[in-house]
Amino acid sequence: MITFYPGPSKVYPQVADYASEAVREGIVSLNHRSAGFMEIVKETVRLLHEKLAIPANYHIALVSSATECWEIVAQSLTVQASLHPYSGAFGKKWAEYAYKIKPPIELNQADVLCLVQNETSNGTQVTMETLAQFRRDFSSNEGSALIAVDAVSSMAGIQFDWTLADVWFASVQKCFGLPAGLAVLVYSPAALKRAQEIGENDHYNSLLFIHENFAKFQTPYTPNGLGIYLLMRVLQQVSPIAEVDAVTKKRSAALYSFFEQEMNKSPFRLLIDNPAERSDTVIAVEGSEAAIKAVKQAAQQAGITLGNGYGDWKTTTFRIANFPAITDDEIETLKQFLLSFQQ
Ligand SMILES: *Cc1c(COP(=O)(O)O)cnc(C)c1O
Repeated sequence: MITFYPGPSKVYPQVADYASEAVREGIVSLNHRSAGFMEIVKETVRLLHEKLAIPANYHIALVSSATECWEIVAQSLTVQASLHPYSGAFGKKWAEYAYKIKPPIELNQADVLCLVQNETSNGTQVTMETLAQFRRDFSSNEGSALIAVDAVSSMAGIQFDWTLADVWFASVQKCFGLPAGLAVLVYSPAALKRAQEIGENDHYNSLLFIHENFAKFQTPYTPNGLGIYLLMRVLQQVSPIAEVDAVTKKRSAALYSFFEQEMNKSPFRLLIDNPAERSDTVIAVEGSEAAIKAVKQAAQQAGITLGNGYGDWKTTTFRIANFPAITDDEIETLKQFLLSFQQ
């Protein structure tokens, strides 16, 4: 079975060996305050900096999920309220979670701008140019304003200019090609300073408490040790992000032109018309409910799992993950299937 589901998504096949290694060598039974375990956390953080080209002065912590990061931003980094310009289901959910913790007030009092860089639900993305514009506009507000970015379905798939935001996070079941249950949280010196000014320390996952623990390569609670080990092993294997970025963008350009040119007589069209808004890592394809249902079923019979639509686009789209763990051969198989389906 080949899967193009945009999360949980295809894991690197090597993960099977890494997991059995972790059990065989007793890594999953290590005490999380032991030197051996701390060494794994330290190496994982080092590899994240190296392979994803994260600035040396940006901090990294590992938590459980992106949803947890939404709450950490609201509880530990938001003074009054956060601002959530969104275009899809994940951005909307983030706003809903944040408002339960810090209810919305007047827009001009917002002190954190929350953006979803890659909206997995409809295959749109915020480019680095747009993010730079947000950075200019938002930091000219009174006082210091933070920008927090949900990059769940793009981190480790495309390259970012990390300095354009203060908080970036992603769970690992998308572009990292790993099983769910772990998330990477990256935060700038300004974000840490903000957390210290707020001084919020009421939760097991308060950012200050997490930061204090990670400074010693420890975690507040017994962490997902297997997940951390798998992340470390996958990071050892992947290419530097500049190379991954080039491959991802080459493949997304090819996929978009495939739909525009070779599939132009099919019952399907790209959901997003404006090429500048299209995601490089999640391609959303629109059609009638009947056509979407039929193609998903036929794909399944051909051994291919297409991603279901999500939120408002649940029954009228399917989605294709263009994540690094997916091979060129698998994409070719998908194209051949879609071509044969349209005839
Ligand atoms: C998948 C996804 C999430 C949710 O991640 P969890 O690990 O389930 O918390 C959040 N935001 C975006 C953009 C996603 O694609």
